[in-house]
Order: sequence, then structure tokens, then C-alpha cells
Amino acid sequence: MDKERIIVPQETEEDLIFNLSLRPERLREFIGQKQIVESLKISISAALNRKEPLEHILLSGPQGLGKTSLAHIIAREMGTKITATSGPAIERAGDLIGILTNLERGDILFIDEIHRLSKVVEEFLYPAMENFQIDFVLDKGPYAKTIKFNLKPFTLIGATTRAGLLSAPLRGRFGMFYHLDFYTEEEIMEVVRRSAKILEVSIEEKAILEIARRSRGTPRVANRLLRRVRDYAQVKGKGVITEEMALKALGMLGIDRFGLDSLDIKVLRTLLEGFNGGPVGIESLAATLNEEPDTLIDLVEPYLLKIGFLKRTARGREATSLAYEHFGLPYPKEIQKEIL
Ligand code: ADP
Repeated sequence: MDKERIIVPQETEEDLIFNLSLRPERLREFIGQKQIVESLKISISAALNRKEPLEHILLSGPQGLGKTSLAHIIAREMGTKITATSGPAIERAGDLIGILTNLERGDILFIDEIHRLSKVVEEFLYPAMENFQIDFVLDKGPYAKTIKFNLKPFTLIGATTRAGLLSAPLRGRFGMFYHLDFYTEEEIMEVVRRSAKILEVSIEEKAILEIARRSRGTPRVANRLLRRVRDYAQVKGKGVITEEMALKALGMLGIDRFGLDSLDIKVLRTLLEGFNGGPVGIESLAATLNEEPDTLIDLVEPYLLKIGFLKRTARGREATSLAYEHFGLPYPKEIQKEIL
């Protein structure tokens, strides 16, 4: 059986509560993503000065990098209310009417996974975003009547792991775009340090470094690993998380020194051994692994691309020499070169 999926498992309720307690609340607490934070500071203070709502904002980037946290922070900095929902949760346009008509001037509507909105709902959103108006259609057939309804000016914040899937008309209705990238090791160390302080856990700097190294540049993963290491240290240790404790706990979780977990390793091994390193289409790879292509695209691929283990080519996904090296396998392209 697979080891527990520590990196990207489904969030349990406990995880959710844990994450909430560690979520930064103000921009000054938000670690990393310096350019985004600076630019937001300026936009927020300008909007506050003009006493106007912010423009609609699109946040893109892999899971767990702080998109939801940023949306909540923006609402707090603007001193407004935030209503949070997600693309798949809005099934019909009707689901949005109640939400939109309840928004006060300047309120934030946060739609997570906005690329998963249905076409109908998306089209219903256009006039709401553009002129703060929605069209109700009353009756059906020849008696159908459209009534316009005015909304109070609000700010839509959309979050997506797949900006490329957004339709051009939807993308065009956002005024600000921010792409969140993986955090540096130092930034993740800061996240772990901050979380340990909030959780009142004593931890050695070297242990922080070991956790950060395995967190794949993702604050959510860093917090999750810290939690597991803390639990281990509480049971096996004397309260302080030492480097040795952290290494033992992380080893038990089956995470290697690159932060790769069992699914990443399965993907890479299948690519290397089952498909001779590729290129292979993501669908074939997913089918062989019995996983959804979306799981691979959203949760596995971004980090493997980032650390240079995987390449995306026109013909599909390809393993790089680094990936071969990591698994102690000879890189076929080098061998070919030598033969030639
Ligand atoms: P996303 O919406 O991109 O999936 P979240 O905003 O839910 O990510 O972030 C996951 C968790 O990671 C948060 O609960 C928070 O504890 C932590 N986190 C994210 N970004 C930061 C940051 N810049 N500084 C500190 N903690 C962060």
C-alpha cells in the first residue's frame, strides 16, 4: 500500500483548522512574494485614498502557495467583508444571484478554482464584473423577459492553479494579475519559524532547514510537515525538535531529500522505466498510474518542472538527466551521444 500522501493529500478537517490558525492575516505578515506584496500595498492604499473598491484580481499559481490567504488579507487590509466560494460549488447561475446581491460596496467575492466555473455561470459573471449588473431572465420561450439588476461595486478575486484554462473574455475582465511562484528555501524557513512560534514549539534552526528543504517551496506543505514532526517529537522526544528528531520523523513519512513523496516517485519511475523517459502524453501517463490527469497537472507536475526533473515538450512530458541521476539510472541520451 502507498505511504500516506503527505504532500498533497485531501485536507482533513483537522488540517483545515490547523491551516486557518497559521494563516497570515496582514500583508506585513505574508512571507515572500515580495513583488506581489509591494504592488498590492500600493493598489490597496490608492483604492483606500480614493474610497473606491479595488479592481478585480486574478491570483494564479500552484496549490498551497497562499492565494486564499492573500484574498483574505486583501479584504482585511481594505476593511471589507469577504465571501468565499469556488468554481465547482457554483452549479447554476442562480447560485450566484444570492451571493452577488448580498455584496455591499467594496466587498470581496473570492472564487477559488475559478477555471472550473461552468460556461453559463461564467457568462453570467461578465456583466457583473464589468458594470456591476446582472441580467435576470424571467419566464421562458416567447414570453421571456430580461430584467437588469444593479449590484453594488465589489471586487472579485479569482484564484486558479491553471490560468491557461481561463477563457479570454473572463481573463480580460480582471484588472490585476498576480502569479505566485514557489518560495525560496529561506522564505520557507521563515514560514516554519513563524508557524513554530505560533504553535509554541521549540525547534532547532537545523531542523527548520530540514523541513524547509522537503517542503517543495510550498508553505502549506511546510506547515503540514512541521505538524507531523512536532507530533513525532512530542511522543519520542523531549519537547524540543532537534535536527535528528526532524530527520527521523521526515524519514518515517517517506519523503526524500528533494521533498518527493510516493506519488511523485511513482510518476517519475513510470516515466523512466515504463516509457523510457518519454516523451509521453499526460493522459497516457495518468492512465498507466491510474490517476486523474488533473491530479498530475495540478499537484505533481509543477514542482517536478520547477526542480528540473521534468520537461514539457510539444510531444509530451520528458524526464531530464537530473531525474535519471536521482534514481541512479544512466541517461540514454548521453549514452547515444557516446555511441555516435
Ligand atoms: P492556496 O490558496 O494557494 O492553495 P493557502 O492560502 O490556502 O494557499 O495557503 C496554505 C497555507 O499556507 C495557509 O494556511 C498559510 O498557513 C500558509 N501560507 C501560505 N502563504 C504564506 C505566506 N506567504 N506566509 C506564511 N504562511 C503562508
